[in-house]
Amino acid sequence: MASRVTFIGAGNMASAIIGGMIDNGHPATAITATSPSDAFLAPVHERYGIRTNTDNQAAVRDADIVVLAVKPQVMREVCEGLRDTLQRQRPLIISVAAGLTAESLQTWMGGGLPLVRCMPNTPSLVGAGAAGLYATAEVSDEQRAQAAELLEAVGLVEWVEQEALLDAVTAVSGSGPAYFFLMFEAMEEAGVKLGLPAETARRLAIQTALGAARMAQQSELTPDRLKRNVMSPGGTTERAVEHMEQAGLRGIVADAMDACAARAREMA
Ligand code: NAD
Repeated sequence: MASRVTFIGAGNMASAIIGGMIDNGHPATAITATSPSDAFLAPVHERYGIRTNTDNQAAVRDADIVVLAVKPQVMREVCEGLRDTLQRQRPLIISVAAGLTAESLQTWMGGGLPLVRCMPNTPSLVGAGAAGLYATAEVSDEQRAQAAELLEAVGLVEWVEQEALLDAVTAVSGSGPAYFFLMFEAMEEAGVKLGLPAETARRLAIQTALGAARMAQQSELTPDRLKRNVMSPGGTTERAVEHMEQAGLRGIVADAMDACAARAREMA
């Protein structure tokens, strides 16, 4: 029988995961989403045919898995409100909230529960996410597999074995989409300076990123090797890449990601 999954929160992240689960064949009747607001519940009910509830406690009562998908600011209130039911029921809990530690979540829920913390990213909304997962000691192997399967509905899943490494995941994939959006802007601006219409430069830059990502994903070769394969000696690509290396692009990326991880630590 399919596991019964309850989403606390029915916003962007919950809807994305629910959509992926339905596409993967998870029965809609085994999925429930909650929100105090019908404005969030009506669309997920109509679109996916799942069950909805404005009462968090009632919705987790028969759940095997509870996904905490509310904004970090309301998480404490939500967890404390569910504490007694969760302690009785002991479902697998998955938090997708950025920056809230397992320790805080466990404290608010009464402690000792099987908890997976997930650091997702926004491309999950289009089924191309990349998420880092960390499991507390209470999580069984079977529950790990369940958590991975659930998140794989919206993209790639990588486990980390220390919670602190979720800050590094934040620096790579959590915040990573913005680095590429910045690159698209820069390439568009530079393309315009070289005479291309902005729309043309933008479309070419985005498609090039998609193509490079697909090649890197499908190839056995390292990114370094793939890069060298397009850099013929004395050619155009070599000139551009050498320029980026000399201008310190690697150092800029390293410093930016250090700053990102440091900020994630500060916010925890
Ligand atoms: P959202 O605002 O779209 O959705 C939040 C949902 O929570 C809404 O349906 C709201 O009605 C509901 N809610 C509020 N109070 C509630 C309560 N007391 N009980 C039940 N439901 C309640 O937010 P989102 O973008 O889906 O983000 C949800 C979580 O996902 C956040 O913790 C965020 O850190 C994390 N996250 C989101 C993204 C993303 O791409 N959107 C990326 C990484 C992490």
